[in-house]
Amino acid sequence: MAEFDYDLFVIGAGSGGVRASRIAASHGARVAIAEEHRVGGTCVIRGCVPKKLLVYGAHFAEDIQDAQRFGWDTKGASFDWNILRDNVAAEVNRLEGLYGQTLGNNKVEVFHERAVITGPNSVRLSGGREITATTILIATGAWPSVPVIPGAGHGITSNEVFSLPKLPKRAVIAGGGYIANEFAGIFNELGVKVNLVTHGDRVLRSYDDEIVDRLVDISRHKGIDIRFNFAFKSITKRDDGTLLLEGNDGKTIETDLLLWAIGRTPHSTGLNLEQIGVELGKDGSVKVGDDSRTNIPSIYAVGDVTNRVQLTPIAIREGHAFADSVFGNKPRTVNYDYIPTAVFSNPPIASVGMTEAEARAEYDDVKVYKSDFRAMKNVLADRNERALYKMVVAGSEERVIGLHLIGPDSGEILQAAAIAVKAGLTKQDFDDTVALHPSMSEELVLMK
Ligand code: FAD
Repeated sequence: MAEFDYDLFVIGAGSGGVRASRIAASHGARVAIAEEHRVGGTCVIRGCVPKKLLVYGAHFAEDIQDAQRFGWDTKGASFDWNILRDNVAAEVNRLEGLYGQTLGNNKVEVFHERAVITGPNSVRLSGGREITATTILIATGAWPSVPVIPGAGHGITSNEVFSLPKLPKRAVIAGGGYIANEFAGIFNELGVKVNLVTHGDRVLRSYDDEIVDRLVDISRHKGIDIRFNFAFKSITKRDDGTLLLEGNDGKTIETDLLLWAIGRTPHSTGLNLEQIGVELGKDGSVKVGDDSRTNIPSIYAVGDVTNRVQLTPIAIREGHAFADSVFGNKPRTVNYDYIPTAVFSNPPIASVGMTEAEARAEYDDVKVYKSDFRAMKNVLADRNERALYKMVVAGSEERVIGLHLIGPDSGEILQAAAIAVKAGLTKQDFDDTVALHPSMSEELVLMK
């Protein structure tokens, strides 16, 4: 008879938890998973998926304008937020169902309850049931940060933004990261007067300066008011429902909606981790080794809760590597080099490898190739918006160590190019590849 109820108990059915459960079960483990909200986690329910669908939905505003230059009569076109919101919600429901099916097909038992850890091999569900398992995996993700200032609760976070009853006339987005810039683009295109405020003097700090400067210029040209060095002092809600935001410098902004997009904190509180001795970082992240194991040998953690890289494909890889290593007799770790990322702003940014500044700090012989161009479609649409591609190379062989794009569809273009960068190819290898004409991506092999 088995000593424990399960071989693996997973807390959190998001990107990392679902992958780990499915793979562990496919290796023959008896697996259970607890989810306190909805199966699918942040990415599916209130992150990547609904966000990208809103990006598509919002972009029609410009497409419809541009279409007129291509001969289409679009007079009378109008937008209904309720339709977009509800269709996105229906798609999210569909995906949630598919995730549930995947777990069921793999014989993973799902508990739709909150779980807390009560010992190295035990958890307690919110209904009171105690469950034991040989191994416990913490995959509880991260939670939007909200500052501790008077009136902060009058703002919403990305958790609520997908179900707004109606679009506001004006919105202030607080933050300078990818979520802030993406929602600035979405709201702006949907006709909301957007103010992006950040406490720093830059947005998107991990991205290449020139690429970010291009986004800031284009965003401002499109009507987004970007304010740097704004430190919030307080938020007051008036009787008419409008919000008054006061900065430390005494300046005020009036708005109808405030969206906090200032970062995501590892979701480790309330899990009982301190009591059972699981080591946490200063940011609340669960500390793990390369094998995702915590200091308690039977407890592992993957995904955003470890705050290694807060991205879905990373949570999935960490979950998969954990399951293969612990239950599939195939020990392996995740390689974090050259992770391609995108900001689905308008226009989008995509990047892999070192920025120019990072490369110059690390190597002596760095060279940068660029292509600064107007996409063919934008030319005919009379849209004065230039794309910028940057290739950062190092060494006499000119190995490509960074590729940074801003322009239409840059996320779609970069994924393929990232394979070449990860494979260690050189500028000459790019140049030796014949251009696919006419396309934007051909600029990758024509850079000067
Ligand atoms: P999650 O997916 O967050 O799953 C954790 C789950 O654990 C949740 O469902 C939660 O309800 C559950 N849980 C927590 N505590 C308990 C408990 N005690 N008991 C039971 N259940 C519990 N990433 C990208 O790669 N690309 C993108 O474009 C992108 N866009 C994003 C846009 C937004 C608005 C946001 C918020 C995030 C976005 N992300 C994106 C990040 C991505 O969603 C996360 O990196 C990813 O979901 C992390 O997966 P995870 O498994 O670590 O955690």
